[in-house]
Amino acid sequence: MRVGEGSDDDSNPVISGCIDHSGVRLRSKDRQKREKLDTIGGMEIADAKHLEVDRAFLLRAIELSRLGMESGEGGPFGAVVVRDGVVVGEGNNRVLCRCDPTAHAEVEAIRDAGRRLADFDLSGCVIYASSEPCPMCLAAIYWARIDRIVYANSIADAAEIGFDDAEFYQQLGKPMSARRVKQERIALPEARAVFDAWAKKVDRVDY
Ligand SMILES: [Zn+2]
Repeated sequence: MRVGEGSDDDSNPVISGCIDHSGVRLRSKDRQKREKLDTIGGMEIADAKHLEVDRAFLLRAIELSRLGMESGEGGPFGAVVVRDGVVVGEGNNRVLCRCDPTAHAEVEAIRDAGRRLADFDLSGCVIYASSEPCPMCLAAIYWARIDRIVYANSIADAAEIGFDDAEFYQQLGKPMSARRVKQERIALPEARAVFDAWAKKVDRVDY
């Protein structure tokens, strides 16, 4: 179930069907598959359970990617943030409807999770993305202190349908002087003074 919602929603594959031992609800088809795998043995049972849980949350991210695309909100990308087996944030790409080039699915899901949890620290969370995060989203995931990323489509898949993630990763791998976007430093004491004030701020909240 989602945080802030008390009832089930059948459109969410994660929250319809039965509940497994970890408290995460799984679809009955997945459950049958899991029961078959339970007979195999030790490590494989644990791996199979993790895979099944991951798959269920990833399918929700993929569902969001399709809904966002079909509604015209943005590109075909969706993401879900999960903590302790519960969805705490969801997002789809909203670049087009918001006129916001940063409104990627992962950023939207992180913002949603921050709002719902009233916390900027998403330690202990997993993010499920329908596609491999771009450099901006990857950095956002690090800033959010998310523990783990699970994704479906690759950067190469995204490049095939016209998205620039691969090129941006290449750009970031180059020395600063060789990148397409020129980056210049003007070291001003006024800027440094604000940093010094932050370092001395008594009610500072570190993040
Ligand atoms: Zn992104």
